[in-house]
Amino acid sequence: MSFKKVAVIGAGTMGAGIAGQVANAGVEVWLLDLPSDDNPNALAERGLERLRSPDSPGLMSEAAEGFIHLGNIRDDFDQLADCDWIAEAVVERLDIKKDLYRRLDAVCHDQAIITSNTSTIPIRLLVEDMPKAFRQRFAITHFFNPVRFMRLLELVRGEDTSTAVMETLAAFCEQQLGKGVVPCLDTPGFLGNRVGVYAIQCALQAAFDLGLKPLEADALFGRPMGIPKTGVFGLYDLIGIDLMSDVVQSLVNILTPDDAFHQEAARLPLMTRMIENGQTGNKQGQGFYRNGSSGREVLDLNSESYSAAPRLSLSIADKAEREGVRHLLDDNSLYGQFAWRVLSRTLCYAASLIPEVGDDPLAIDDAMKLGYNWIKGPFELLDEIGVDYFIERLKSEQRPIPAFLAEAVGS
Ligand code: NAD
Repeated sequence: MSFKKVAVIGAGTMGAGIAGQVANAGVEVWLLDLPSDDNPNALAERGLERLRSPDSPGLMSEAAEGFIHLGNIRDDFDQLADCDWIAEAVVERLDIKKDLYRRLDAVCHDQAIITSNTSTIPIRLLVEDMPKAFRQRFAITHFFNPVRFMRLLELVRGEDTSTAVMETLAAFCEQQLGKGVVPCLDTPGFLGNRVGVYAIQCALQAAFDLGLKPLEADALFGRPMGIPKTGVFGLYDLIGIDLMSDVVQSLVNILTPDDAFHQEAARLPLMTRMIENGQTGNKQGQGFYRNGSSGREVLDLNSESYSAAPRLSLSIADKAEREGVRHLLDDNSLYGQFAWRVLSRTLCYAASLIPEVGDDPLAIDDAMKLGYNWIKGPFELLDEIGVDYFIERLKSEQRPIPAFLAEAVGS
């Protein structure tokens, strides 16, 4: 089935992106935000402006723009009465989201599907005050940024969400929006961010602990491991050092105290200073990297000054990229230590999440490939490395073997 009319509420990074992708599919979409004083639709207009950005165009054609209608939640709320799908993408605040759902319930028709784009708030909290008929039509559609280009869509079902609603959303998002839909349980960070943020944190902490420079860490935590060449420091700059800090803190708040995430989540004093100094990454033109007058520059983590960032070629990284990551893991240098520490912790963490986040390792692999552009998911990487090798090495370091892996090899 196709939706005839869609509304997206919240015209920020994600809401504008979702509206753009709906318009790309040739479906009418209203993009609403809060009213502004002088120009009531100013925030929605700003969202549309971002979709037009040549750096990351959210629209596929000029014609697509014709499907987008801009408005605000004061003057245009009645537009929601005949919408088939209302996607909420407002700020990550439970009180604001709940208040909106109460207003939506009063105006939407009784078949309308309502979803949230929340990254962290469990579905049961989002709809705890809502009547059952609303809860049956409610789910989480967790898109990734930038919406047009990131294929992953995590689709989260609440206790009361009807099967028909899940099927309708999955079909529309797959067939019309071109997404790879991964069904997820209602657990913190779902699949992609739970594993992805953990991996980024592992790489960051390992680089600091082992004294690797950003250029070195990024040359390793990249193509040699089947991860995009942005690396870890580059990815922090891309996402925003402030936003990443918030995401990490949000997971710290929500994960149980025994979760291994906490060991990788310590806030680094350098990063606090960087946020205070406005060095939050690409959006402010400087983070761990910046474009200087004579080319790309990189931050020295000790002196906190920038200097030229020449392209770094590490022979062991090049070999691992050509011939497989085992070459890097077997290397005795600091680079090998870094790679083993990051990969072994990340793969153990992914394995330890089964069955908490679901019993399907393929879903975790899909989430990492579609949401983080990894060439192989954690379990495919384990197959490449060799599960027996992996377990033997963990044993030799007296580290616990995740139950899922122990069962897989019958040990
Ligand atoms: P954002 O800050 O860029 O945009 C939020 C928008 O919501 C703002 O334009 C704000 O004016 C608007 N808003 C606030 N209260 C509102 C209300 N009552 N009615 C209508 N509009 C209102 O935020 P974002 O990054 O687009 O995030 C939106 C949601 O998506 C959050 O739940 C976030 O956790 C989630 N998310 C973000 C990302 C990301 O990478 N940014 C990725 C996945 C999910």
